[in-house]
Amino acid sequence: MSDDEDYDSEDILKQCLAAASSSSSTNIRGDAPQSEKRKRELWKRQQLAKEEQDKAKKAKKEKAREAVTTLEKGLSTAIEPTNKGFQLLAKMGYEPGKALGIQPNARTEPIKPIVKANRFGLGKPEEENKKHEKLISEMQERASKREEMLVDFRSQKSQLLAEKIISRDLSNAQKACRTQDVEAGMVEPRIPWFWPLKPPDETDVQDEEESEEETLSDGEKLMEITEYLRTLYNYCVWCGIRFEGPSELDGECPGNSREAHD
Ligand SMILES: [Zn+2]
Repeated sequence: MSDDEDYDSEDILKQCLAAASSSSSTNIRGDAPQSEKRKRELWKRQQLAKEEQDKAKKAKKEKAREAVTTLEKGLSTAIEPTNKGFQLLAKMGYEPGKALGIQPNARTEPIKPIVKANRFGLGKPEEENKKHEKLISEMQERASKREEMLVDFRSQKSQLLAEKIISRDLSNAQKACRTQDVEAGMVEPRIPWFWPLKPPDETDVQDEEESEEETLSDGEKLMEITEYLRTLYNYCVWCGIRFEGPSELDGECPGNSREAHD
């Protein structure tokens, strides 16, 4: 008996294990492709739904267009003599091409309604809407132009300021150059504009030098004079001092520009 029981329980256990292993193995093998398949199906369904929506939209638009054309066509053609309304009017004495009623100058054609097929404001003719749009675009254009002018004005202002600083630096450099040159025993500047310009009445007529002066900007003149002072006298306009020698100038002065000395 106990053997049978043992056998039975072992058998059941084996069956259970077999069942468990087979079901889990199918799960592992079958799960991934199934979810992929589901995803694909879902995507397909979504695509189909989208296509259907697009088709419906197009059909709706087409239908609306058709309705407008039918309506316009109907409004532009006269009522047929077979029409009930026409027959009623004819019974009361109406003749085609003539006005209704007894007034002699009455209209002979019915009032034509305007078919509205756009989304512009109700009661506003299209021209007025266009006018409105034009006005808005003009306003926007003017605003952007104003902005441009403001930017121009600001850049002009900063440019003016930069020019002012350069001209002041040049004047300082010319004064320093004259001081250094005079100390070195010179009575005349190497180039006329290396020293501050004489008042107009004292200026001699020097066509050649004057024309050369004209070709250089204040910034270029400033560079020339500062280089001259550094090379000849180890003098830095920005530091405002004369150094003992070129190595001291190189070591202690940050460089030949206003920016370097900020
Ligand atoms: Zn310096």
